[in-house]
Amino acid sequence: MAKITLDNVAHSYIAKPKHESDYALRLIDNIWEDGGAYALLGPSGCGKTTLLNIISGLLTPSKGRVLFDGKDITTLPPEKRNIAQVFQFPVLYDTMTVFDNLAFPLKNRGFNREDTRTRVLEVAKILDLTDSLNKKAARLSADAKQKISLGRGLVRKDVAAILFDEPLTVIDPHLKWQLRGKLKEVHEQSKLTFIYVTHDQVEALTFADKVIVMYEGAIVQIGTPQELFEHPSHKFVGYFIGSPGMNFVPCILDGNKAMINGIGIELDDKTAALGKESHGSLELGIRPLYLEVHPQEVDASVPAQVKSIEDQGNYKIITVRLSGHILRARLPEGNVSLSENAWLRFPKSWIRLYANDKLLTR
Ligand code: ADP
Ligand code: MG
Repeated sequence: MAKITLDNVAHSYIAKPKHESDYALRLIDNIWEDGGAYALLGPSGCGKTTLLNIISGLLTPSKGRVLFDGKDITTLPPEKRNIAQVFQFPVLYDTMTVFDNLAFPLKNRGFNREDTRTRVLEVAKILDLTDSLNKKAARLSADAKQKISLGRGLVRKDVAAILFDEPLTVIDPHLKWQLRGKLKEVHEQSKLTFIYVTHDQVEALTFADKVIVMYEGAIVQIGTPQELFEHPSHKFVGYFIGSPGMNFVPCILDGNKAMINGIGIELDDKTAALGKESHGSLELGIRPLYLEVHPQEVDASVPAQVKSIEDQGNYKIITVRLSGHILRARLPEGNVSLSENAWLRFPKSWIRLYANDKLLTR
């Protein structure tokens, strides 16, 4: 087990990078605590696999250092790092049995027969592979093969960390849900550092204690699922997390009000003060969940036009136009009868201000 430090790490796949855009990873400077369950979340191409491969040693970063428990291992090859890595697609020995595949990482490390057997049976039980232990891996379905890959990642208890790179991509949706729960259980029992890469917010938010959101080769926020939802530090996090994403509207300040094309939204003192001190183009952000929609005028509400209402099963999403800007809100349960006009209320505690895409905060 180890604490992992990424000390000013950057990586370019180009021999002589010149511009910032030549870097797949721009600048990563972080400490990942021993025993944490981390999810690395971001869209395709943002650098997740690159970062994982730098931690496992498959890649040496162009700049910076990687430390395990304070020891510099930047140039150490993967086999000397004591890391288990599970890839997107199954990596196993087709001609071996499931048992031998699971046992392989242990035999390699010189575990004796009895300990190997005990541990393989344990892992097989967790992953529902017990009945297939004597089968040749080649004869199994894609799902089962990927479960073996997961098992190979989980079988050793003495690793510094286990890295998972979108490991449930080839797994069918129902089993996916089940396996995610199992991984969480295994993490809680093993206390190993888990780093789980995904582009799926649901997967990240259900698996991890801490979610690391990446965007264009950089980490934009590290936080608990609640922190990411309630205080997105960058507009990208607001968009990417939540369904639908956060609303953002350009505004200017007038006293304690955010003015949206002449319509004033009341702010609390602290938020207004942050806005006054800021530089750059200001935007008001609010999650659809917290934007209130009323059929009639209520205290501190502003008029808007209803564009459409979408039924999402157990809730509805309404799209409204406020002074030329499109906003989305989640309608409360029950039937709210709305005509083409509605009244919006912005609860002060849920209003966030952004300047140049970044959350204003103290
Ligand atoms: P992710 O895993 O988040 O989808 P990657 O780390 O695979 O992202 O890729 C980050 C960026 O680096 C992308 O622009 C990708 O095209 C580029 N890239 C990844 N691997 C290589 C490679 N072996 N050679 C050149 N460019 C690469
Ligand atoms: Mg990837």
